[in-house]
Amino acid sequence: MIIAIDGPAGAGKTTVAKGVAKELGFTYIDTGAMYRAVTYQALRLNLDLDDEEAVTDMAMDMDIHLEEGQVYVNGEDISTQIRSPEVTRSVVKIADNRRVRERLVSLQRSLGRSLKGAVLEGRDISSVVFPDADFKFIV
Ligand code: C5P
Repeated sequence: MIIAIDGPAGAGKTTVAKGVAKELGFTYIDTGAMYRAVTYQALRLNLDLDDEEAVTDMAMDMDIHLEEGQVYVNGEDISTQIRSPEVTRSVVKIADNRRVRERLVSLQRSLGRSLKGAVLEGRDISSVVFPDADFKFIV
């Protein structure tokens, strides 16, 4: 079962999604953390974030894994690093990269479908990632 939660930034989507997941025993999928993970890796490798091709090539090669609220890139736990002010400032550039979005959307779909129950939140979840979600909420 897929539950999709949409809404504008700062509306409390994450709080709602985590609460719903906990209540139902479902898995919360932090899609923002995936965009942050790509951003963090690109910054760490000193890539020019405006160089869409370089960022896309890097993102295609990256292994991004979410488990128990932690975020792993190529096996390394980067959960703390992705919350840095620098990542927060830069993530919009990565989120504007169409091919990175395609890759992350496809990851989100396969992850969501592999679970018995998943709760996802983010601006494109009910429109792009899971338009056929079992339940959709706008926060
Ligand atoms: O939710 P969080 O603030 O961690 O997300 C970081 C950024 O990732 C958002 O500000 C947005 O630019 C991007 N994002 C996105 N699509 C999603 C989730 C997050 O573009 N589904």
